[in-house]
Amino acid sequence: MAQRPLKRNTCEGCGRTHYSRSPLTRFCGSTCQSRTWRKNNTASQEQLEQEYLSQEAEKAAQQDKEAA
Ligand SMILES: [Zn+2]
Repeated sequence: MAQRPLKRNTCEGCGRTHYSRSPLTRFCGSTCQSRTWRKNNTASQEQLEQEYLSQEAEKAAQQDKEAA
């Protein structure tokens, strides 16, 4: 089986240049990959609070409608 050509990529986590034979590799290593994933998928407590407040406001509005 022929080896795939090496590609030079810029890591999306730390911005460093890294080399890989996989065209799908976006990170220099699993550390950067998981760190970036966590950053994109974990909301801050402030964001969660805002979400909670609008959720409660929606619930209250729903109850008002049902009561009327
Ligand atoms: Zn990196």
